[in-house]
Amino acid sequence: MLPQEIIRKKRDGIELSGEEIAFFARGIADDSVSEGQIGAFAMAVYFRGMTMPERIALTEAMRDSGDVLEWKSLDLGGPVLDKHSTGGVGDVVSLMLGPMVAACGGYVPMISGRGLGHTGGTLDKFDAIPGYETAPTIERFREVVREVGVAIIGQTARLAPADRRFYAVRDVTATVESIPLITASILSKKLAAGLEGLAMDVKAGSGAFMPTLEKSVELAESIVAVANGAGCRTAALITDMSQPLASSAGNAVEVREAVRYLRGENDNERLHEVTMALCAQMLGLGGLAESDEAARAKLQKALDSGEAAERFGKMVAALGGPADFLERFDDYLPEAPVVRPVYAQEEGYVVAIDTRAVGMAVVALGGGRVRPQDTIDYTVGLTDILPLGERADAHRPLAYVHARSDADYDEAARRLRDAYSISKTPPASLPPLIYTRIEEAI
Ligand code: URA
Repeated sequence: MLPQEIIRKKRDGIELSGEEIAFFARGIADDSVSEGQIGAFAMAVYFRGMTMPERIALTEAMRDSGDVLEWKSLDLGGPVLDKHSTGGVGDVVSLMLGPMVAACGGYVPMISGRGLGHTGGTLDKFDAIPGYETAPTIERFREVVREVGVAIIGQTARLAPADRRFYAVRDVTATVESIPLITASILSKKLAAGLEGLAMDVKAGSGAFMPTLEKSVELAESIVAVANGAGCRTAALITDMSQPLASSAGNAVEVREAVRYLRGENDNERLHEVTMALCAQMLGLGGLAESDEAARAKLQKALDSGEAAERFGKMVAALGGPADFLERFDDYLPEAPVVRPVYAQEEGYVVAIDTRAVGMAVVALGGGRVRPQDTIDYTVGLTDILPLGERADAHRPLAYVHARSDADYDEAARRLRDAYSISKTPPASLPPLIYTRIEEAI
């Protein structure tokens, strides 16, 4: 087989065989296919698309380009489950969801990513916890999953290496925005973790990765079809990202919010609802609950009894963080020197939020990266973010800015005011929290 013949076939709109796709994916991983050929292949797929069998073959081949974890030999006694989100601002769900599902009998080996662009990354949030090891050996990772039920760590170089090279080429050849390629990229990494069930959270709205609701639905349908086709029970929720989900955005500030949530001190209903919906989906996929109602009752019990919080504390300690993190998180998490409110220029109701711009305000504060190699400041960010429909006035700020300096505060305040649309009248309606649910392959 020749890579150029495979590219030519795809360029001409002819369906590729599983063998051809596996050959090309192997070539990406072992460098026998050149960068030019990867770019040409990606562009051919961008214009010609891929059938579902082609997408499944590409996902499986990329998954198999590195280590694929297995859990059977550990005899866990419960299903191996995970959640993946396409990312957003204040998307702190994973920090609570992992321990909650573990407290209900699931096993959650979560391999998470760093933030890039305007979105935050789960891995960066855990890096804000002193001592927490986000890159343990695979053996230690497996031990923690077995003992605690959940471990959240970072991507290793040995999982789906074909995706790393493929994505780097896509990034510089204007071919990231291809639904078959996004599907294979996301799922190759997730399926390499050896999952039995996966809940997908595909975001829609001004802070989402996908540009429109229609595109979010198309991606979710593709992921659900391909993951189920590759043998992993998967369902997707399309959830709202037309405003930050948590009340805070940043790293240490989001960890604080997650710990408070687990301790029963949450006052953000949207965050609670999205977290519960995704957890319930996971319990359903794993056969741990008969219905959505039963799943929610189980999850609420795990929260009320303190079991979910305890799992979080155990995971932090098992991965090298403080043993009393749950009790003394405020002492351990770093704080920014400047913490001040930002008020809207005129009083009124919040009718729209440019969520991407809110995320970029956090990046500008130093809480995110512009390039993958940038270092970040875990202390900075926003708290008490004012949601859609609420009134901004002299008593209710748009948010509190946590900054390294007065100059950084000023810049974040300017960005935040620009991101908010304020009106004399309240919005006619608020966006739904969950737009739709995609439960089976189409
Ligand atoms: N996230 C990924 O992991 N891959 C893509 O292609 C897009 C988003």
